[in-house]
Formats: sequence, C-alpha cells, structure tokens
Amino acid sequence: MSVKSNPFRATLAKMHPYVPGEQPQGGKFIKLNTNENPYPAPPAVTAAIISAAQAGLQRYPDPTASSFRRQAAETLGLPGPDWILAGNGSDEILTILVRAMVGEGERLRLPYPSYILYRTLADIQGADWEQTEFDKDWKLPAAFGEASSDGEQKLRLAFLPNPNSPSGTVLTPDEVLEIAERLPCPLVVDEAYADFAETNCLKLVEQNENIFITRTLSKSYALAGLRFGFVIAQPHRIAELGKIKDSYNCDALSIAAATAAVGSSEWLADNVQKIKATRRRMEQKLTEIGFKVTPSQANFVWCQHPHKSHKEMYEQLKKSQILVRYMDFPEWGDGLRISVGTDDQVDACLMLLAQM
Ligand code: PMP
Repeated sequence: MSVKSNPFRATLAKMHPYVPGEQPQGGKFIKLNTNENPYPAPPAVTAAIISAAQAGLQRYPDPTASSFRRQAAETLGLPGPDWILAGNGSDEILTILVRAMVGEGERLRLPYPSYILYRTLADIQGADWEQTEFDKDWKLPAAFGEASSDGEQKLRLAFLPNPNSPSGTVLTPDEVLEIAERLPCPLVVDEAYADFAETNCLKLVEQNENIFITRTLSKSYALAGLRFGFVIAQPHRIAELGKIKDSYNCDALSIAAATAAVGSSEWLADNVQKIKATRRRMEQKLTEIGFKVTPSQANFVWCQHPHKSHKEMYEQLKKSQILVRYMDFPEWGDGLRISVGTDDQVDACLMLLAQM
C-alpha cells in the first residue's frame, strides 16, 4: 500500500477508538453514567472565570499554571508547587506520562477491569500492555507488583486507579507502597476519585520517586466541562514531564477557575459529604432489591444482579431517560456502574430498577 493511500502509522490499523460514556448534549436525561458530580461547581469558580475574561484573553496563558500549582500545593499540604504539573484533564496527564516513559515496543501494565484508556495510550505509542485480573471480589493478585516473567526490562510503567473504576474499591497506602517498591518500573496511582475515599496516597510521593499521583477536577470539584487535571511527583520527575507537555496546555480561563476551585475547601468537604450520604443510601437500596453491591469509595457504585440481564436493565432505564453505564468485560463479567447523582435522581433510578 502506498503512503498516499494509507498515510497513518501501522499501529493505527489495529487500534479502536476509545469509546467514552454517552454524552447527550441537552435533553432531559438523568445522567448517572460518567461519574460527573451532580451539583454545580464551587461559586468562586464562576467569579474567577468572569474576572479572567474581563482581564482580556489576547495574551497566551501562564505556561506552567503557577497560580493553580501554588494553591493546590497549599491545599494538599505538598512541599511546594514544583511537585505539580497541570494538564487539560487528567486524561492529558495520563497521555503525558505514557509519552514520557513508554516507547514503541515497550510495555505498560494495568489491572483489569479498570480504566481502558491506559490501553489506548499504549496502543498509540506502538507499545504493548499486560493486564493483571482482579478476582471476583476485586482483590488484586500479588502478580501486579511483580516483574514480568518474559522481558521484564520492557515493562516501563504500571497504572493503578485507586479507587478503581468500575469497582470503587481501594488499596491502602501501605499496600500501594509495597507494590511500588516491588515493581521494576514507576507506578502511576490514578486518584481521579480519591476525594471520595477514606485514604489516599499523596504522602507516598515524598517517600518514593517512582510514584506519580494523578488527580482531576472533573469529579469532586464538579468541573468535568472545564478539563483540568494534574500530576504530583518529586520535582525532578515533574521537570522531566514538563519537557513533553504542550507549551500552553491549560488556557487562562481554566487556570483561573481551577485555582479558585482548589481554594474552596469548605465547599469540597460539604459536597463530598453529600455524595457519600447518597452513596450509602444507594448501596443499601440496591442490596435490598437483590443486587450484589461492591462497597464503594468513589462517586459511583458497581452492582451485579444474580438473575437479571444487566444489558436489558440499562436499556430499560435509557428508555425512561436515565443513563447508567452498562459495562461488559469479556471473560470477566458484566454489570452496571451507577454514578451518585442527587437524591432525587438516584431515587428515580432505584425506583425503576426495583420494578424490573
Ligand atoms: N482516571 C479515571 C480512573 C477515570 O475514570 C477518569 C474519568 N473518565 C479519568 C481518569 C479522566 O478524568 P478527566 O480527564 O476528566 O480528568
């Protein structure tokens, strides 16, 4: 085939596009399918966006989002802003990490079922990936932290979503540290949902230069529409990642908004409490109506029914304008992942499920 008829790199031929959850724009859907926050973002965010817009947008933004990094370092109790690199959503941060550490023919590792994007990022690099399967109770086998039996020197990076998606389960910081110490490569702990959990691994980055923690403003800060995420690691690691990122990967409005958001600690604490209370209710009610529910430390719940078809339940809910996520993991199993919405949204969903 000539280059003209197929100009794309060979690796694209075996790839499929990463398919995110359904995102109807407008309409009256109750949206419980992509783990967004059902409540509006901290009020300080809107004021910050307006004031940044009024200041004018004719100049390029601050390339390193310094105001955000200063505020985030303070809020999170980090030694300083040089422990943070900001990006256009944590998906961009994951891309930067893979581009920086995993080359063609090399390999990354992920648990399964987990966030499928990691595999797509490996594919884009022309790299390989290997999966460690959770058991049916979402325990991660020790093999996840071990060297590969074949060609371990090719293993360049491991991803651990913690809390995991779709399960909402967590490993403790001690368990994560033990994995990081055993692994022959760096470990990315994807903490997209950590604000909803009882523990997080932030302190570990100070102990181990091979741990990278990623965070997002899409979930606990209710800013999925803004696109803002970041990675925390030791400053010499952050400096290397800075070589890979686009010059102006975060725009001026997003930087202003994200800075205001991470300064809104009281808002965050209130919001997280509300979501956790609704999550507890969801877990109880789903159990009452016959689901096997995995106890969650995130803003969603993974549930499986012993007799009923998950696909059909998903479709019936959709007919009633309620979107949840039907997930089918070949050779592992399927189920429903339901995001924690407002109490009213969750009640509407639970009522229909109880009638099915
Ligand atoms: N990591 C995990 C585990 C996720 O579920 C998501 C949300 N799809 C992300 C990262 C990406 O979040 P965002 O790009 O919105 O920051």
